[in-house]
Amino acid sequence: MATIAPMSTEFEEYVRDESRTQGRASSISFPTSEAEVREVLADLARTHTSVTVQGARTGLAAGAVPQGGHIMNLSRMDAYLGLRQDDKGRFYLRVQPGVVLANLRKVLANKTVPATAWDAESIQALEALYAAPEHFFPTDPTETSACIGGMVACNASGARSYGYGPVRPHVTALRVVLANGDVVALRRGEVFARGRELTLTTEAGRRLTLALPGYEMPRTKNASGYFVASDMDAIDLFIGSDGTLGVIVEAELALMPAPAVVWGVSCFFASEDAAVAFTATVRPRLSYAAAFEYFDAGALNILRAQRANSAAFASLPELPARYAVCVYVELACASEQEALAELCLVGEALREVGASEDDTWVARTDVDRECQRFFRHAVPESVNMLIDERRRTEPAITKLGSDMSVPNERLREVVALYRTTLAEAGFESAAWGHIGNNHLHVNVLPRSMEDYAAGKRLFASWAVEVTRMGGAVSAEHGVGKIKRDFLTTMYGAEHIAAMARLKRQLDPAGQLGRGNLFAEEVLDAAPVASAGAQDAACDEPREAEGHGAACAEPREAAPGGAAGAAVATPDAEPSVDAPRSTSEKGGERA
Ligand SMILES: Cc1cc2nc3c(=O)[nH]c(=O)nc-3n(C[C@H](O)[C@H](O)[C@H](O)COP(=O)(O)OP(=O)(O)OC[C@H]3O[C@@H](n4cnc5c(N)ncnc54)[C@H](O)[C@@H]3O)c2cc1C
Repeated sequence: MATIAPMSTEFEEYVRDESRTQGRASSISFPTSEAEVREVLADLARTHTSVTVQGARTGLAAGAVPQGGHIMNLSRMDAYLGLRQDDKGRFYLRVQPGVVLANLRKVLANKTVPATAWDAESIQALEALYAAPEHFFPTDPTETSACIGGMVACNASGARSYGYGPVRPHVTALRVVLANGDVVALRRGEVFARGRELTLTTEAGRRLTLALPGYEMPRTKNASGYFVASDMDAIDLFIGSDGTLGVIVEAELALMPAPAVVWGVSCFFASEDAAVAFTATVRPRLSYAAAFEYFDAGALNILRAQRANSAAFASLPELPARYAVCVYVELACASEQEALAELCLVGEALREVGASEDDTWVARTDVDRECQRFFRHAVPESVNMLIDERRRTEPAITKLGSDMSVPNERLREVVALYRTTLAEAGFESAAWGHIGNNHLHVNVLPRSMEDYAAGKRLFASWAVEVTRMGGAVSAEHGVGKIKRDFLTTMYGAEHIAAMARLKRQLDPAGQLGRGNLFAEEVLDAAPVASAGAQDAACDEPREAEGHGAACAEPREAAPGGAAGAAVATPDAEPSVDAPRSTSEKGGERA
């Protein structure tokens, strides 16, 4: 049994995450197995104690920050559980939620997956994996200390989501413990909603018939509220649920063959207009782009200052003054010939927008790529350090970064909106992020509490505009506690109430992730719908839910990913969360 320890100074770091929000809690546990998670939850259910689930606390939306009650930290639940290979030769790795992304990458690259307690089938699959060309897990949320459970709970994305989609299509199975300790085991392609009604059967035999909210999700990159769609796959409800529906205790991840050639091209421009024009021009022409990342003038200036003033950043490359803004393009190709052809298209687009091929850095080797990775990671890292510095005089200041996405045709409009309104407000700011997905993180760097309050008001006004443009108020960080007002702007109070009702069908006492997605008053006002729950033992066992006989079979995996390798996708219909296929050059994945 995992100990439920009272909070003490020993655990004070666990009331914060990378959003720099400060919370409070009365107890904490560090379970190491599913059985321990169930025991702790069953114990806390007796007193209806609220439970905040944590992975690595790298989240930027305060989803893992407790507002009282218990902290369940899963970072010690970090075992590799098994591997299978399907009849098409694809590999699927089963892990506990506390596995850290950096470690997952390392053990795959070095062929050192810890497999001591594995069964014979898994060992056989592992031998086949090691004999095959290198495989990898493509999701890259920049911060490689994130845990798999946290990434799944946020539907994390990052730089490479342009080419490979967010984490969602790479998750093929989940085990989730509900607030009362019951387990739901879900495999992609096996359980579907009928329209907007979803029936789940727990391992204890309880059948839960859930009413899914009626909203339509934006057809952009999206991590705003619950994933709901007519006839949806049940697994997608739990991916991106922000720690509010259940505790993810196991995930099966689809691995992909690593691209043979990866080149990173940092292109520098004299103006933001040129960078946006370049993105719009080159995006539909490239077949094998995995990432399109942007760094504005504020971001590059922060790097210049860090390089000059901090020994930790002295190895950053020098940025000539004429480099005003940067777009980083990552090419993931099957051969050098393919990469060269793509590079020529980049060069052509640069000339068309009046930029120069001479003002580019091309990384072809591991050392150069690592240097570029350090450069990209240094931007958010430095901004977080700056916020910490400002918190010394104004402790109430937290990170103030946007996470909104819009459809392709709105890219110019949204960048103009950011630029004009930031200038009007006179803010110090830095913007960077995933321009390929029309998704920038604009960070206001508050110099005072007045700046901080005004920055919050500005973001609220952007949420209105982005919703009008058909975009998402959170594209990848999740809503957590920080963006729940934006979620109401995006979907309206009625749909938020429907989300709260759905949550209370799975978590009647509203214990899990309190304060995430909706305010506690909204959650507590939602009626507890127990009528949908019944004992499955009374019913005929069902082979598969929804969609008739076709759904007893897992759905066909679709080709996708920048290097053209195949992964499982969540929907038979093209989905905004599906990896970009080479036939979808240009428009957003809709
Ligand atoms: C410098 C920096 C850059 C970043 N860049 C990106 C980026 O480009 N793209 C991106 O997507 N993110 C980015 N992030 C955010 C962050 O890394 C991701 O949100 C990550 O997915 C969070 O994982 P975690 O393990 O730290 O989760 P935590 O922060 O611990 O938790 C996040 C949420 O998931 C829930 N949760 C955690 N584990 C579980 C579980 N097992 N079961 C149920 N719920 C759970 C929590 O309750 C919380 O709501 C960045 C962060 C930093 C610091």
